Amino acid sequence: MKIRVLGCSGGIGAGLRTTSYLIDDDILLDAGTGVGDLTDEEMSKIRHVFLTHSHLDHVTSLPLLVDSIFDHIKEPLVVHAQAATIDVLKTHFFNWDIWPDFAELPTRESAVMTYKAIKPGEIHEISGRTFEVIPVNHIVPTVGYRIVSPKGGVFAFSGDTTTNDTFWAALNAHDRLDLLFVEVAFEDAHLELSKLSRHYCPQLLADDLKKLNHHPSIYLTHFNPGREREEAIYKECLTQLGSKAFKRLAANDTFDL
Ligand SMILES: [Zn+2]
Ligand SMILES: [Zn+2]
Repeated sequence: MKIRVLGCSGGIGAGLRTTSYLIDDDILLDAGTGVGDLTDEEMSKIRHVFLTHSHLDHVTSLPLLVDSIFDHIKEPLVVHAQAATIDVLKTHFFNWDIWPDFAELPTRESAVMTYKAIKPGEIHEISGRTFEVIPVNHIVPTVGYRIVSPKGGVFAFSGDTTTNDTFWAALNAHDRLDLLFVEVAFEDAHLELSKLSRHYCPQLLADDLKKLNHHPSIYLTHFNPGREREEAIYKECLTQLGSKAFKRLAANDTFDL
């Protein structure tokens, strides 16, 4: 199973793309602005989108993606998300005012896009790759995922979250974790803002990583943009995470599990 990072920033700016990962060539995990770097051919190969939550930085490219592949696909694109997330997409994106409702186009019976509601605790299989849906603690209903490759490699993504027990307990319930992408949005000076907006800052992340029984390769993602801020977050992670080795995730990083 290949993972290609299309975007992993908390915002936009020159060279920055928001959260989106391509799994093999047919599954998108979140649909941030990184999707816009894919070619027509790459976009038309995407069959499934798994969303963590409804925030704009994670879904903004979905309406444009569906429009781009409209003429090229024979089977509908399946959007997997919690019911609350699907409601937001229907009400605020695909509502004919912001964008056409592609779940009804060209006809309701042969639509180019369809929704599949998923629930925390469920495990969904797509051609040998399994997605375990894990609830996390963000300002809107949000899930992370534990994804197992056909070869048995295990990748987990936190989605957007702050301090929680659910994600770490779900990962500890299994005996393997190879690769972890976890968010850290703010520097420690914004500890209160991190709690309010339900993101991690380095201190909160360091406290939560102590709950994890595994020793995966850890990649930090979703830094809020701004060179000074990003450098501060990284430096504080070096201090706070201590012996936990980690790297900062970057667009175009690829992984093979
Ligand atoms: Zn969010
Ligand atoms: Zn986000």
